[in-house]
Amino acid sequence: MPDSQSLHIAVVGAGPGGYAAAFLAADLGMTVTLIDPELNPGGVCLHRGCIPSKALLHVAKLLEESAQAKNWGIDFASPKIDLARLRSWKESVVKKLTGGLGVLSKQRKVNYVQGRAAFEDSTRLRITKSDGSEERLAFDRVIIATGSRPAIIPSLKLDTPRMMDSTGALNLEDIPGTLLVVGGGYIGLELGSVYAALGTRVTVVEMLPGLLPGADRDLVLPLHKRLEKMFDGILLNTTVASLKDEGSGIRATFEGPEVGVAEANPREKVFDRVLVSVGRKPNSEIPGLEKTRVQVGPRGFIQVNKQLQTEDPSIYAIGDVVGEPMLAHKASHEGRVAVEAIAGQKVAFEPNAIPAVVFTDPEVAWCGLTETQAQNENREIKVARFPWAASGRAITIDRPEGMTKLLFDPQTERLLGMGIVGAGAGELIAEGVLAIEMAALAKDVALTIHPHPTLSETIMESAEVFFGTSTHIYRPKRA
Ligand SMILES: Cc1cc2nc3c(=O)[nH]c(=O)nc-3n(C[C@H](O)[C@H](O)[C@H](O)COP(=O)(O)OP(=O)(O)OC[C@H]3O[C@@H](n4cnc5c(N)ncnc54)[C@H](O)[C@@H]3O)c2cc1C
Repeated sequence: MPDSQSLHIAVVGAGPGGYAAAFLAADLGMTVTLIDPELNPGGVCLHRGCIPSKALLHVAKLLEESAQAKNWGIDFASPKIDLARLRSWKESVVKKLTGGLGVLSKQRKVNYVQGRAAFEDSTRLRITKSDGSEERLAFDRVIIATGSRPAIIPSLKLDTPRMMDSTGALNLEDIPGTLLVVGGGYIGLELGSVYAALGTRVTVVEMLPGLLPGADRDLVLPLHKRLEKMFDGILLNTTVASLKDEGSGIRATFEGPEVGVAEANPREKVFDRVLVSVGRKPNSEIPGLEKTRVQVGPRGFIQVNKQLQTEDPSIYAIGDVVGEPMLAHKASHEGRVAVEAIAGQKVAFEPNAIPAVVFTDPEVAWCGLTETQAQNENREIKVARFPWAASGRAITIDRPEGMTKLLFDPQTERLLGMGIVGAGAGELIAEGVLAIEMAALAKDVALTIHPHPTLSETIMESAEVFFGTSTHIYRPKRA
């Protein structure tokens, strides 16, 4: 095996997986070429995903809080929204971060090529550059990090600007009077929340019985209650049977057991815009991939082992294109493991806890084992819940609806999972990830002194609930 420092690595796709991999490979002394159609690295996450959506959600939060301030004796006038300035602020955030990644690439001497890559064989790529020219390059190893794109429902495809996917919704062309969000997953709820805060009347339709399928129901409940107030309608167990462009709007017809039963469950309705957010599809249709030994599974994910190596020994793959959860931080960690494996280190991607965060208001976050998963696996667990109504900090910010819960192994008392719903849950969950990865026991969490008054105390108090000795709620341990 050649000395890893003499290796020339190509990384195809510069999202959070690809650029993290490229930067680490460069830091380890390898020669690196990073290929992506955008001017700067960032991928979906920075250009049209995590970052622009969170910039807009920050604004949504401000609008919501300033309205809520009425309860505290502060009455703001109705906000005036300058959409052009809001859009340009969001774009400036994206530009700052992606430009920063461009600088970091240069500092690390990563050869950033703006273009699209196709495989000639296992180690040679043909790159069609953005200026139309072509370049053929040979590498020792290739890391595929081509990410994913919004899934579409062919029967709901309409050729009108009124139809949007997440990328279109983030463009924020206008503030429509009404918006139908198809899909009650995290992207639909986050973007629906942004539009609702800006003044749009939002209806969400979800074919399953609850929002955020996959998340524990007790975590979703407080969010559902708040969204019921924010949104015009939440239609569960409902599918969109058809969409018809009527010029002045899109007529949606609904199907499902509750459709037409009550006024809140209409059979059809006209919307100014429709956002389809029904999941994402891996970008595994890379031209020439068939000339390699890379295998693609039935759902379109590239198949890899724990070192992120494909069936083709010189090709690795990471991020959304290799499977769930399709999250930026999973992609980055996989990218780093792939590079370490290429460098000959004994590594494997086998986390105990990958955090998932829904940046709605309240936020929902979880990591490790979920209660739903434990039930499905018939696994015995002990759940300790701490309601935020008993948290001093939650009361000071007028957000008592939150809840923190910890899932323990009843025999070993080891922490297996954490779930939080409430303001700032996305920041708080990191403590759970660390505790699970460090194999913390209930006692470790309970004995860790948390600062007062903070929402982080709810984690410590949940561990105290496990022992029946939480200071701020009376819940003695049953004999
Ligand atoms: C609206 C929205 C909000 C999101 N919010 C969050 C969030 O809050 N937190 C979170 O963790 N995740 C979030 N995600 C998901 C997150 O964006 C993805 O999980 C993450 O970007 C995946 O990273 P990746 O490196 O696998 O690929 P991507 O970020 O998808 O990047 C892949 C890159 O490869 C390029 N590419 C594709 N084919 C080729 C080729 N042949 N040659 C060269 N380049 C190619 C693409 O153009 C793209 O730039 C969100 C996604 C969306 C859409």
